[in-house]
Amino acid sequence: MPSALEQLLLPAECLLCHGLLGTGGTGRDADRIVCPVCRHRWRPVRPPWCERCGQPEPHFGPCRLCAAWPTALRTARSAVWLAEGAREAVHALKYGGLPRIADDLAGAMDATAPRLGADAASVLVPIPLAPRRLRQRGYNQSEWLAEALGRRWRMPVARNLLSRVRETATQTALTPETRLANVAGAFAAERGVGRLTPGRRPGVSRDSTFILVDDVFTTGATLAEAARALEQAGARTVLGVTFGRAVIPDFT
Ligand SMILES: [Zn+2]
Ligand SMILES: [Zn+2]
Repeated sequence: MPSALEQLLLPAECLLCHGLLGTGGTGRDADRIVCPVCRHRWRPVRPPWCERCGQPEPHFGPCRLCAAWPTALRTARSAVWLAEGAREAVHALKYGGLPRIADDLAGAMDATAPRLGADAASVLVPIPLAPRRLRQRGYNQSEWLAEALGRRWRMPVARNLLSRVRETATQTALTPETRLANVAGAFAAERGVGRLTPGRRPGVSRDSTFILVDDVFTTGATLAEAARALEQAGARTVLGVTFGRAVIPDFT
């Protein structure tokens, strides 16, 4: 729920198109700061896709995108294509400084929710920012997204499980291989995942399902490297969810 102060300071207009927000929203919709028109412009990522990485087919031969992923990383799914509309939403999440936008993005991510067994303890793990970038921005947008998903999906969020141990160059090269090399060794997980008791629910162990949360999936290199760090710490099952998926030019 937004604070009274935030309500007061925020105009009743859509953060993206500045159209007036209706006042008739109910439940979760009442807190939205992106209007339905803008949300309808977000184009869902749909199957057929590679069952593992969620990249749409056609593929010829083995999937090039996820072939080198660590074993623990079972699936990755994204809600919408990073195209017109969604790109502005991600920009607002990263630079707008308004936590409520994360609820709007999380609201579009229900289709990416993993189907877990009733007894499966699962925990959301935001992709950490490099310390320098965190200082510049003041917040980690993936953490906001994970917290919004945690409220929606009723899952705990492990904020400090992963850390960036190496600054990485801004990812401009677009081949999956280059990106993997760029983020190699970028993350470290707390030693011994089994000792971790994050969030509201105790008992998260190496048998838990670790759900990595990031704003955008480009080639999956970041998710793969974060999953590798979790795997090295003992995690056996890692999933990845993102709001946006970038279109990779010339990828087949
Ligand atoms: Zn709008
Ligand atoms: Zn794949």
